[in-house]
Amino acid sequence: MEPVTATNTGHAVVIAGGGPTGLMLAGELALAGVDVAIVERRAGQEVVGTRARGLHARTIEVLDQRGIAGRFLSAGQPVQIASFSGIRLDISDFPTRHPYGLALLQKHFERILAGWVSELGVPIHRQREVTGFTQDATGVTVELSGGQSLRADFLVGCDGGRSLIRRAASIDFPGWDPSVSSLIAEVEMSEEPGWGIRRDGNGTQALGPLDDGKRVGVVVSEPYAGQTGEPTLRDLSRALIAVWGTDFGVHNPTWISRFTDMTRQASSYRQGRVLLAGDAAHVHYPVGGQGLNIGVQDAVNLGWKLAQVARGSSPDSLLDTYHAERHPVAARVLRTTMAQTALTRSSPQTDALRDTMSELLAMDQPRKTFAARMSGLDIHYDLGAGHPLLGRRMPDLDLITPSGPQRVYTLLHRARPVLLNLGEPGGLDITPWADRVPLTDAKYAGRWELPVLGEVTAPAAVLIRPDGHVAWAGDPADLALPDALATWFGPPAAG
Ligand SMILES: Cc1cc2nc3c(=O)[nH]c(=O)nc-3n(C[C@H](O)[C@H](O)[C@H](O)COP(=O)(O)OP(=O)(O)OC[C@H]3O[C@@H](n4cnc5c(N)ncnc54)[C@H](O)[C@@H]3O)c2cc1C
Repeated sequence: MEPVTATNTGHAVVIAGGGPTGLMLAGELALAGVDVAIVERRAGQEVVGTRARGLHARTIEVLDQRGIAGRFLSAGQPVQIASFSGIRLDISDFPTRHPYGLALLQKHFERILAGWVSELGVPIHRQREVTGFTQDATGVTVELSGGQSLRADFLVGCDGGRSLIRRAASIDFPGWDPSVSSLIAEVEMSEEPGWGIRRDGNGTQALGPLDDGKRVGVVVSEPYAGQTGEPTLRDLSRALIAVWGTDFGVHNPTWISRFTDMTRQASSYRQGRVLLAGDAAHVHYPVGGQGLNIGVQDAVNLGWKLAQVARGSSPDSLLDTYHAERHPVAARVLRTTMAQTALTRSSPQTDALRDTMSELLAMDQPRKTFAARMSGLDIHYDLGAGHPLLGRRMPDLDLITPSGPQRVYTLLHRARPVLLNLGEPGGLDITPWADRVPLTDAKYAGRWELPVLGEVTAPAAVLIRPDGHVAWAGDPADLALPDALATWFGPPAAG
């Protein structure tokens, strides 16, 4: 594949922000041969305090699709982490190679991901901030702190919930103001507190010993009264006393941070040559542990599309499918998270609702439905009517190919599409797309099973996009195949 360099001086793509989303997007673009650079405010990849605590199954799968899941699996602990407002949802019977989540702190996730991005040779302009941009018909001029600027064909704002890119693009961020504020801290305490989790009218409160055996991890909520800015030890002491009647002699904080249940989503993920992904596009309360996961999955949806448009092999309109597919996914996460936030509180009525939800989620079909939703395994892009696989994630089948046994996800490692012919070898001819879409003849004798839906009929051929979602499934003679190839991978080459 020809490398894609910028048509102007600079880069084909500049990414503002090298958190989980920006790093994943940079990796996707670099794999596709696109000249990409990150501008990141932080000096290194250190994450202050604890943010995300783990990965859901679909995120592990997308990393597996790039051949890097093992790096994360060996650094974390596979566990059943899917839950609905703390109500456990076991996915060990799900039809995936990874029927579990991974307990792994965000600082380790970012460190490992940054290692991969560095191997791919992506430059990161560190200790630089994007301060503004202007876009015109041929590109974007990205202004940096220090007075310099970069020129790019596209700019992607992966710069977190307070995204400057979103604000500078005047993209609306509608949603709901906070109703609760939570302090999260690592501290020392003179008295040993009662460990554990408790719920009250404000939400969930937690005290737990940290690994060093000396410090305590605290999450304590306070009614939201317009708090802004950095919280202090005094704020923490006051919140502890309000919940436990004592602050346990809290002192010597390593860090104290505040987060709220503000719930907002960008009204548009794209404005011309500027796109948004991750927290820049959607923010919500952390209950359910979705933010990092859907940010990484935004990046995997956007990366290959942006690469093809930057390369000129697909029209600009392909980028509109990014908003069309990912906006509804985050909108559903926001709704589910608001429902979970309501359940973090305690009152006789909410406790009764929580018990009812627990009973419901103990039943098989509701458990499967919600567990697939929380683990991201049920994501279904609306690509119209057709085979049940259409728009869903491709299962990681064990295939027999002319070059020997191969997993489907291994075929996706280079972030290129895959057309699988499971029928008569040589029975598919896609010559006009042969330069872009590798065709593999394969045999598969096992069951085709999807989370929640169960077993589906085996298709004779499947077209898989680089993000692992099925673009077409059917019979080789199906006239929808050339349409799908043109829609997703550009017009046919002149013969
Ligand atoms: C307490 C807490 C617990 C959480 N728990 C979970 C969980 O269990 N599971 C989960 O999936 N998610 C969780 N999250 C959410 C998760 O941390 C975020 O969703 C995730 O970090 C989003 O990644 P991102 O890359 O989109 O944004 P960020 O992580 O915010 O990264 C943005 C990056 O952009 C940089 N930046 C910002 N502005 C500029 C600029 N102008 N120029 C250059 N660089 C800039 C920042 O330095 C940063 O590196 C939690 C969050 C909190 C607060």
